[in-house]
Amino acid sequence: MKSSCSTNFSYNYYKKILIVIKENWHAKLFKEVPNFINYSIFKKPIILLRHDIDLSLDSAIKIARIEQEYGISSCFMIMTNSPFYSIKDKKKILYIKNLDHEIGLHFNFGIRDNNNKINVDKFINEMNNQANLLKDIISEDIYSISFHRPLPQLCKGSLYVGNRINAYSLELMDWYLSDSKGNWREGNPLPKLKSPKKSILQLLTHPFWWAEDDSSPNDKLEYFFQNCTKGLTISEKKKFDESLSNHLSIYRSGKL
Ligand SMILES: [Zn+2]
Repeated sequence: MKSSCSTNFSYNYYKKILIVIKENWHAKLFKEVPNFINYSIFKKPIILLRHDIDLSLDSAIKIARIEQEYGISSCFMIMTNSPFYSIKDKKKILYIKNLDHEIGLHFNFGIRDNNNKINVDKFINEMNNQANLLKDIISEDIYSISFHRPLPQLCKGSLYVGNRINAYSLELMDWYLSDSKGNWREGNPLPKLKSPKKSILQLLTHPFWWAEDDSSPNDKLEYFFQNCTKGLTISEKKKFDESLSNHLSIYRSGKL
C-alpha cells in the first residue's frame, strides 16, 4: 500500500490537489491573464490550471465535472485534428464549457519543414482556422493556445501568439508543473502547492492520465489501445499503435 504522501493519478488524489489549491491560490483562466499579468493586486498567488486534451474528450469531461464540484474553473485545450477524438462531438465540448470552464486551442501544427522551421504566416493562418472551428462550436472567441509537442523555439516565447494568450510564454512558464506522460517530472506537486514560492504557477494536467483508481501510464495506454482496436485486423492495430506512439511520443509496452 502506498503511503499517504506519495502521489498518484486517482480522482481522489486530484480532489486533494483541488482542496489545497482552493486554500492557497486564486485559480484564474488563461483568458483572464491580461487582467493580472502586469499587476500584483491579489492577496493569494495565481494558479492557471490547464488541461491538454490529446486523446479523449470523455476523460476531459470527468475532470471538468470534478473541478466544477469543487468550484474551480480551468482551461481545457482542445485539439481540432486529434486522430483519437473528434470535435464533431460538439455536445461534449459545450458540456465542458457550460461547467464554467474555458475552451482553448491545443494546437497541433501540421505544416513543418524538415528542419522543424515554421513559416509564421502559415502557422498563424492554421491557428486561426483551427481556433475558428472551436469558436463555431462554443459561440465564443478562443482566447488562449497551447502547443501539442511544442518545438523548442516556441517555448518561453512571447505572451501572445497572434492575438491569443500563449500558454508557453516566458511569463506563464516561470513556474510550471506538469504531469507529462503520466509522471510528475518535478515530483509530488502537493507540497509545492501548499507553500507557493512564486506569484504565478501554471499547472498542466492531461485528463487521460487520471482515473477512478490509480494505475500506471502503461496500463492506461494499454486499456485505451485494447478498447479502441476491438475487432480491428492485425495491420489496422499496428497502424493505430504507430499513430498512438507518434501522437504521444510514448511507446506502448504491450505486444500486438
Ligand atoms: Zn498535447
